[in-house]
Amino acid sequence: MVYEHEKCGHEEIIYNPRDSVTPFLIPCPNCCEGYYKNRACIIDASDLMRHQIALMNYQPDFKPPQGMFVFHDDGIVRREGDGCDSTS
Ligand SMILES: [Zn+2]
Repeated sequence: MVYEHEKCGHEEIIYNPRDSVTPFLIPCPNCCEGYYKNRACIIDASDLMRHQIALMNYQPDFKPPQGMFVFHDDGIVRREGDGCDSTS
């Protein structure tokens, strides 16, 4: 899943390990780093980046590398290896 933030131009590839839909809008990690660290950032509508394209088909055996953003079962996006990973 490729997301792009129009305001700052940041692009992020986010792996979807679930064979399911993903949010159309998520907070930009470039503008809202605090959101991904401790959920402390207050998200403004202009801080949301938009889903652009589905890059990969569903690949259940794919192992996301450290630092890659991943959609988790609770629907929350987390950075792989940030200490909150429940899959390893
Ligand atoms: Zn941004």
